[in-house]
Amino acid sequence: MSKSNTEKVLDEIENGTIKKIKKEDNFTFGCDSCGKCCRNREDIILSPHDIFRLLKHLNISDKEFMDKYVAFNIGPHSGWTILTLKYKQKFDGSTFCPFLKAHEDKFICNVHAAKPYVCVAYPLGRMTKFDVETKKHSEIEYILQPIDCGTKDEEHKAIDWLRNEENEESEAFFKRYNDLMQEVREVFDLNKLRESKNIGEDSKRLFYTTFLSILYLNYDLEKSFLEQFEERAQELVKMISGFSSLLTTQKIKL
Ligand code: SF4
Ligand code: SF4
Repeated sequence: MSKSNTEKVLDEIENGTIKKIKKEDNFTFGCDSCGKCCRNREDIILSPHDIFRLLKHLNISDKEFMDKYVAFNIGPHSGWTILTLKYKQKFDGSTFCPFLKAHEDKFICNVHAAKPYVCVAYPLGRMTKFDVETKKHSEIEYILQPIDCGTKDEEHKAIDWLRNEENEESEAFFKRYNDLMQEVREVFDLNKLRESKNIGEDSKRLFYTTFLSILYLNYDLEKSFLEQFEERAQELVKMISGFSSLLTTQKIKL
């Protein structure tokens, strides 16, 4: 099987293509708003936190948001739900983000104040370290991706680039999200479910619809995201444990 994204990033850190960077460090990069990074790619991941922020910003229902802007996939390595921005297709076959807008001879992001984390962070990115003793993702490490666009005449401190205040909530979410993935891995193998021939497609669909609904839908946008996410995380583990027990009781092997 091909390597997962995490494995590819670790390889690139090893060979020096991607560099680790601390939040207090500076890096040089100037975006010239060419819009290239918002076209012809369909890998802008939307986390529950991204969707919460976008819904608040756009002031639309989550149903409308999901219908218009979201593509749903199942991770080929993890069996986890992967939501991405649904790109629009132009007549010439090229695709572009639904939030990309032309402005004079430049391109701007129509949701700049609430854009997804991967867009905020670029050219930075992040990873979590798993502590085997506490079984928690206790630390976040930042990386500087190779830059092949824009200019090199602006110096930025990483923490400012990451929008310091928003980043605190984002970091707390990211650690909890990774802990949740670990908790789920311990009770159930989602990847086996994805590949299983013993579970019907209707049952898989129901499972993933429930998964999606627990983790992403019906948040109260006036209340704390983190508190609601914690409740959702616990509910998801409960749902998946229940599903796993049901398969055991019915002697169904994945
Ligand atoms: S959300 Fe904004 S920055 Fe991100 S891909 Fe779309 S237009 Fe570009
Ligand atoms: S300069 Fe780079 S980051 Fe800025 S819009 Fe162009 S491709 Fe995207």
